[in-house]
Amino acid sequence: MTTIAIQAADLVKTYGSGPAAVRALDRASLAVARGRFTAIMGPSGSGKSTMMHAMAGLDTVDSGSIRLGDLELTGLGEKQRTLLRRTRIGFIFQSYNLVPALTARENIELPLRLAGARADSDWVNDLADTLGIADRLTHRPAELSGGQQQRVAVARALAARPEVVFADEPTGALDSRASQALLTFLRRAAREFGQTIVMVTHDPSAAGFADRVEFLSDGAVVDGFDDPTAARVLDRMARFDAGVEVAA
Ligand code: ADP
Repeated sequence: MTTIAIQAADLVKTYGSGPAAVRALDRASLAVARGRFTAIMGPSGSGKSTMMHAMAGLDTVDSGSIRLGDLELTGLGEKQRTLLRRTRIGFIFQSYNLVPALTARENIELPLRLAGARADSDWVNDLADTLGIADRLTHRPAELSGGQQQRVAVARALAARPEVVFADEPTGALDSRASQALLTFLRRAAREFGQTIVMVTHDPSAAGFADRVEFLSDGAVVDGFDDPTAARVLDRMARFDAGVEVAA
């Protein structure tokens, strides 16, 4: 049986007010299965970033519900959301966001330390081995390639074994070989470690690594399917570009 890691229902988010108001989310609903790798796709401006930031507790919504396990995220204050992000959620950003003055290992362990927890060094070493950065842990980010920096960022996101890892265009700054290695690892993290991963991407071949893809259009989730291939995702995206929509 599939269990749900995070459930978003009827999310509404408007930026600005009056005639200039933009409805970024318009009753968006999504159930993310636990232990799976889910990709979120959609045309530029369809609300992907807004939705991910809301589900990750980085931003608020105007209405709707977001449940992480049995915790309702909407209505939490800034302080509670910060604590939640430190303890139950991991992030991988396109720009890595590593601290330049810290070594790779210190970067990986930073969120745990901020949360006042002790790093599980066996787990961190396992992650570093699997990601192929075990011999890079004493180096600072400037001494690492882009692909290595992103793998450090992935280890950092997984170090605390969070309930959900959110990845925002994680391969956006990588060449195709480094991208493929990273996506292969994310898929393994779901299959072998049971890690729930939600990735926003505009790249159909990146989505092809996921277990499921969901499509946003005009602020709502309008379609989705399991075991996507790059070709099928590309085909679905082409229908958005052509303005041909299926009834949701
Ligand atoms: P995507 O990630 O799919 O490109 P976004 O979630 O970034 O879409 O944006 C959805 C809509 O909300 C777009 O029309 C965008 O211009 C608008 N938007 C996003 N962030 C802001 C903001 N901070 N202020 C005003 N409008 C915004």
